[in-house]
Amino acid sequence: MAADPRPNGREDFEIAIICALSLEASAVNYLFDEFWDLGGDTFQKAPRDENHYTTGRIGKFNVVLVQLPGMGKANAATAATFLLSSYINVRLALVVGICGGVPALGKDDDEMLLGDVVISNAVVQYDFGRHYSHRFLPKNSIEDRLNKANKDVCALLRYLSTDHGGDQIQEKTARFLRELQSAHTSRLAGRWAKQRAKYQFPGTAQDRLFKTDYRHRHYSEPGDEPCGCNDQFACRQAVTSFCEDVGCDEACLVTPRDRLEFRREQERKDSAEAQDPCVYIGAFASGDSVMKSADERDRVAKEQKVIAFEMEGAGVWDVMPCIIIKGICDYSDSHKSKKWQNFAAAAAAAATKALLEILAKIKRNKEFQLDRRA
Ligand SMILES: [Zn+2]
Ligand SMILES: [Zn+2]
Repeated sequence: MAADPRPNGREDFEIAIICALSLEASAVNYLFDEFWDLGGDTFQKAPRDENHYTTGRIGKFNVVLVQLPGMGKANAATAATFLLSSYINVRLALVVGICGGVPALGKDDDEMLLGDVVISNAVVQYDFGRHYSHRFLPKNSIEDRLNKANKDVCALLRYLSTDHGGDQIQEKTARFLRELQSAHTSRLAGRWAKQRAKYQFPGTAQDRLFKTDYRHRHYSEPGDEPCGCNDQFACRQAVTSFCEDVGCDEACLVTPRDRLEFRREQERKDSAEAQDPCVYIGAFASGDSVMKSADERDRVAKEQKVIAFEMEGAGVWDVMPCIIIKGICDYSDSHKSKKWQNFAAAAAAAATKALLEILAKIKRNKEFQLDRRA
């Protein structure tokens, strides 16, 4: 089937993608099938709209991509509002990028690994009273938020939550991830081939989940003077240093982790499936600061029944129908590594393209109509 024709104007866009970091937007860029603005700003924008847009086509959809000026809810809400002033027919915003995961809290919980993807069916705003005079602790937060979501978005998410829908999104995500990683199959081969190397699977040895009570700090003295690190406190230098530089001990990793073992086995067999992301549907905790405490993570996860932490979703959610699609780049604890950021961003971008492909199919079957939230 021929692709949708080139849009006549901004009114022909119904899907927006919102990214906070340039590494997130870069990964999404690689999965565009076509760009509409390579020759310059084709579609202009509404007066006083301060967003910067990239326009193009992903699968059957014309898509407008916005990169936020910074992280956090306020930036996201402002950008979403500007977006609707220029692109008045956008029906769905996908907030795409990287997030912190919540490792399994109970024996029967899914074992999340770095590089897996979480798709939101709800977003819970959690704040600790640092920036606000009141503490935000909604009682039935998840259900409340769900009711506010576009009912057709809920229908899509319900489909993804079925066994068949789950298989579909997972298979397609794996396929698009490989496409993004392959310098040969994509039309972006050539001068960007080198940059693509950064999207390769970091390897199971880099997937390190430390025990909850094992904190990130200097375990080896950084200099002649004591730096101040102790069991309760990590010095400034330690906070900004990577685990391998401060001496975090691999003997304190959580074991056993069955799915990691399975992944390691695949890796040993040199199977490409070693890297395939699991795609989870669940609730995000959205806050104004990065979650960097294993204790807080587990407390909020248990109280609010969330499976991942991020910072922009709540801002967009209040403005327009929205799905958050984020790849897990760390375990929301104090330990620090950047090794998974690019891969997690690529996995999220791949899941986004997979979701759009499923959405196009459902729309074609006329079971699905994207409506603006009342
Ligand atoms: Zn220190
Ligand atoms: Zn560490």
